[in-house]
Amino acid sequence: MGMELIAFRIPMKVRFRGVSERCGVLIGGRAGWGEFSPFPEYPPSVAARWARAALAAANDGWPRPLRKRIPVNATIPAVGPELAYEMARSSGCKTAKVKVAEGDDMGRVEAVREALGPDGSIRVDANGMWDTDQAVRNIRNLARFTLEYVEQPVATLDEMASVRRQVDVPLAADESVRNAEDPLRIAGLEAADIVVLKVQPLGGVQRCLEVAHACGLPVVVSSAVETSIGLASGLALAAALEELPYACGLNTLSLLEGDLADKPFVALNGEIAVRRPEVDPELADRYAPPVELERELKARLHEAMEALG
Ligand SMILES: [Mg+2]
Repeated sequence: MGMELIAFRIPMKVRFRGVSERCGVLIGGRAGWGEFSPFPEYPPSVAARWARAALAAANDGWPRPLRKRIPVNATIPAVGPELAYEMARSSGCKTAKVKVAEGDDMGRVEAVREALGPDGSIRVDANGMWDTDQAVRNIRNLARFTLEYVEQPVATLDEMASVRRQVDVPLAADESVRNAEDPLRIAGLEAADIVVLKVQPLGGVQRCLEVAHACGLPVVVSSAVETSIGLASGLALAAALEELPYACGLNTLSLLEGDLADKPFVALNGEIAVRRPEVDPELADRYAPPVELERELKARLHEAMEALG
């Protein structure tokens, strides 16, 4: 193919989406590096979009950046109030995304509000776990801590539209965005005020820009829990969007035990500077998978590329 390929496997600090490690292939092309790291259960037809994103990053490069630094949020998992306070406080971020629909939501959000102060921004994420009535009730209760938005309070778009009519807090669609057509449906149904876009699942930075433009909703760029090579694409998208009213969910490198880039993307004072990272050969060696897995991962990439046509 005339491209440089580096397979990798990096353990995660905490299990996420049922996976305990992130595996994939980096693609080196004329523009730089791209990351192909679809989740293991995805068939080639879905992984194809991830391949398209990786190939575009490697070969086409990125649109012109409109900003140099991207504000990012801290992520507070479903922990108790004391730990939530500590995590929000030590993050250096002015925005925190707090996991809800699990354990003591009120105590956790209250602690994060205390940690960030009145000028901080708090969004909560229910990952679609509430039903409509629970969502309306819980959002009204949590609203006393002032929320910038609620991410995916309920699972379906009809439920989202119903909740949205009953609460004053803006809603963001995350899990509801699975492909490039979804944001248009979301806008059409008035099911959300904001869409969360991830570069790899949607097929690349350019595709995401088109989706953002077509749906007309404000965008929050998030990662698919990637290495710095994948995060770089998310940062490039965030940098190229005409409007970026919210902090992005790109501060996720700390979920991984390690990275592959020479200079990892870690937030400083709640921001990440946009740049193109290089692969560190020593790190590539450290996280090289066993031969059998390497063969599997590269075969997956080839199947995905074939599905792309
Ligand atoms: Mg989410």
